[in-house]
Amino acid sequence: MAFDVNKLVRNNIRRLQPYSSARNEFSGDASVMLDANENAFGSPVIGNYNRYPDPLQNKLKEKLADIKGVPKDYIFLGNGSDEAIDLLFRIFCQPGIDNVVLVPPTYGMYEVSAQINDVYCKKVPLTADYQLNLDEIAASIDQNTKMIFICSPNNPTGNSIKAQDIETILVNFDGIVVVDEAYINFSKQRSFTYTLPEFPNLVILQTLSKAWGLAALRLGLAFANKGIINLMNRVKPPYNINQATQEMVMKALDGVEQVNQWIQEVVKERESITQELENIAQVKKVYPSDANFILAKFEKAKELFIHLKKKGVIVRDRSNQALCEQGLRITIGAPEENALLLREIKNFYED
Ligand SMILES: *Cc1c(COP(=O)(O)O)cnc(C)c1O
Repeated sequence: MAFDVNKLVRNNIRRLQPYSSARNEFSGDASVMLDANENAFGSPVIGNYNRYPDPLQNKLKEKLADIKGVPKDYIFLGNGSDEAIDLLFRIFCQPGIDNVVLVPPTYGMYEVSAQINDVYCKKVPLTADYQLNLDEIAASIDQNTKMIFICSPNNPTGNSIKAQDIETILVNFDGIVVVDEAYINFSKQRSFTYTLPEFPNLVILQTLSKAWGLAALRLGLAFANKGIINLMNRVKPPYNINQATQEMVMKALDGVEQVNQWIQEVVKERESITQELENIAQVKKVYPSDANFILAKFEKAKELFIHLKKKGVIVRDRSNQALCEQGLRITIGAPEENALLLREIKNFYED
């Protein structure tokens, strides 16, 4: 299979002459910068944020390349993963004509982004054990199917999708395969990043919003071969990652050890909450999780949800989603938060 990314790209994007910002045209060190209509005096009150940031975030990408073991020019940084998702739709999907394949229950943003871009979603539900239905996926693909979104570990079910099934799709589908690894840090499964040399149609999404504890700074990562990364850089807003985020993330990335410690603690808590829930008769099923949350099915799930809310404990009601009937998604919190959660679940069923 000779994969040519340019055949998938929308015509308007292929023809696009990208905006050339001042910082694109001159990015070296000079003593007098009069090319970007900035304020030469500084910024009020806070430090100096008067200069436009590096549009390609070179320093940050070098550091991330080290940590992730992916070359710098295989990395795109977005204002959260959501920006990367939206860009992929705008690059590859002709509104009103093209379509994508989604495998529910899964992360809601793929469909929202599709709808915003007027792209039809073909939905192929996961099997009862939350794995890919490969035959149905193959049957759903047509000439206008441009992307397939696979979330692994999957939100809201928590399980990893079989790596071999993802590879089957990568090999057989001529469009873009997006593998969303937002929760990969909590999983025993290996990231797909090592397969990038093999799969020119692969886009891997990761984020600093979960394990790294930086949700408020909004930094999402996409890994792909250079052809796709270049397209994303051409279409993104020129200064999509602000200077404060670039600086703060540079510092936070020194805390790998702290993050690894938290991951271990979350995994330990996840296993102990799972056991405790399994001991409650009214908990019908606790799904094994590779993420920092668990999906469980409860008797009277809606009433339990409301009871917990009254007690100040907010979980996510997923009971309306396909294959998630009676399901609540519960984020693993700090130990005392988890203890309170379990106490209130027991109180609810004892009343
Ligand atoms: C939380 C989450 C993200 C992260 O989104 P950001 O915009 O980077 O905060 C991406 N994908 C999935 C499946 C998620 O659950």
